[in-house]
Amino acid sequence: MSFRPDAQLDPEQVRDVRGRRGAGLAVGGGGIGVVLVALAIMLLGGDPSVILEGGGTSALQPALEGTSAIESCQTGADANNRADCRIVGYVNSIQAYWTTEFQRSGSRYPRAETVLFSGSTQSACGTASSASGPFYCPPDRSVYLDLSFFQELQGRFGAQGGNFAEAYVVAHEYGHHVQNLTGALNNRGNDTGADSSAVRVELMADCLAGVWAHHAESTGFLQKLTREDIAQALDAAAAVGDDRIQRSTQGRVNPESWTHGSAEQRQRWFLVGWERGTFDECNTFAAANP
Ligand SMILES: [Zn+2]
Repeated sequence: MSFRPDAQLDPEQVRDVRGRRGAGLAVGGGGIGVVLVALAIMLLGGDPSVILEGGGTSALQPALEGTSAIESCQTGADANNRADCRIVGYVNSIQAYWTTEFQRSGSRYPRAETVLFSGSTQSACGTASSASGPFYCPPDRSVYLDLSFFQELQGRFGAQGGNFAEAYVVAHEYGHHVQNLTGALNNRGNDTGADSSAVRVELMADCLAGVWAHHAESTGFLQKLTREDIAQALDAAAAVGDDRIQRSTQGRVNPESWTHGSAEQRQRWFLVGWERGTFDECNTFAAANP
């Protein structure tokens, strides 16, 4: 995939705190912040055991002294050249789509900021660390993302990677923001399992990522998507499937404890969104077997 080189980016939608240490940080300290962020991770796509086990790293980049590299992300050409500008491009395209879609149905889409961090940072859901994986924090309506996750996606999760794998991850998190706005997040209980409310919320976010992909070109930021792009998204969706993660970390699959859905479920719901392109098709709660 590539961005239209002349597309004008809005770097204000991404807050760049890379290289700044999170104040009062206590990764692995067992404080309430860690527990809360673990909940957020469970809610939104990661493996909370990583942070609960205190797996924080101190691989901080050099301090940027108040300047933000993100501010120099101005055009689609920048997004084609730089990993951080690429995130700006995805966020801009995703929010442009949802703004239009909410308008079309007579409501307003308040934007959610993406906080790009390295090492760790504070969120209203507790401390976000590089071990967290990307997550959406409902109280501060922000997406938290450490770019190192995309290496992890290929390494630890065994995905093939690629730019549209990244786009899928960002669009999934914004799917949770849309769910927060529509109230769908409130349907999530504490149950687990292949047809649990937790899994249905996650699969809906996958579907909403597919809906954005369906409309991505029309936002003006991206060129027409290719078969390969969609294959990258599907590959990433499968890599973070509960069955795949369980098989690689525990050596066995236990559907009763699923919180995000299997590789097959996640791929299938992304495809529903991609092929049909409408929000209404993403009602995972209406499906007998999501
Ligand atoms: Zn999620």
